[in-house]
Amino acid sequence: MRVCATLGLGLGFLAGCSGSGGETASARMQPAPFGGTLAGGRGSMTPEPPPPAAALESVLVFTRTAGYRHDAIGPGVEAIRGLGADNGFTVTQTEEASTFSDAALAAYDVVIFLSTTGDVLDANQQAALERYVRAGGGWVGIHAATDTEYDWPWYGQLIGGAYFRSHPAIQTAVVNVEQSAHASTHHLPASFSIEDELYNFRANPRGAVTVLMTLDEATYSAGEGAMGPDHPIAWYHAFDGGRAWYTALGHRGELYRSDPDPARQAMFTFFTQHLLGGIQWAAGVAS
Ligand SMILES: [Zn+2]
Repeated sequence: MRVCATLGLGLGFLAGCSGSGGETASARMQPAPFGGTLAGGRGSMTPEPPPPAAALESVLVFTRTAGYRHDAIGPGVEAIRGLGADNGFTVTQTEEASTFSDAALAAYDVVIFLSTTGDVLDANQQAALERYVRAGGGWVGIHAATDTEYDWPWYGQLIGGAYFRSHPAIQTAVVNVEQSAHASTHHLPASFSIEDELYNFRANPRGAVTVLMTLDEATYSAGEGAMGPDHPIAWYHAFDGGRAWYTALGHRGELYRSDPDPARQAMFTFFTQHLLGGIQWAAGVAS
């Protein structure tokens, strides 16, 4: 049975149509096969099974920016702190690249790049993050994490080869959930509308990653750099011994703020549960 709900009309989180479970989405959409090609060049790295489930006790939120700085970073940190308080993990936020050492990173189950921009780590700090992931560490990227470290090939692979290219003006678009049996999407309707800054990428990550959600470009103006009928905006993959999860959503501060208005609160709940599922998956405690 299909259920169509209206959520947050007029506030960007518009209409959602969903079945009663994940079956609707999987029946409607063809899941992405692995093994496609990816522009931008994949190395010889082969995906390995993620390590056994670990605990989710501590996350690092990295918010250093060498380029554009999003106003939503502050609310984003607070939202992740709230997720930690509600779910039993500690949240440490830093702007300090020096945190990227073997000893310091070992304290964290997941490292989150929250709208980082530009060249934020030096070569030694980059090597520390690579070792962290190879040792089974989890990485989460939010929004401008793909507008970061363009000249670091390993990082390019971490993000599925999908560096930020461009974005049109903030507008409302329809998102299709392609993989509903994932911790970061199971709570979402099969299709919903959201107002946000919607990224175009330099390459389509499909084939390198498992795509969770796509944008329907027929429902908004993607502008220069439009990606056409296959426009991923959230994905994950086992990568180089660890786990990497990314969502391109999260430009607008409203997405991270609890609000007494029911529609805004619905949008907040949707988005923060999306993030929580990504963090839990990256930590290896959810599938
Ligand atoms: Zn943005």
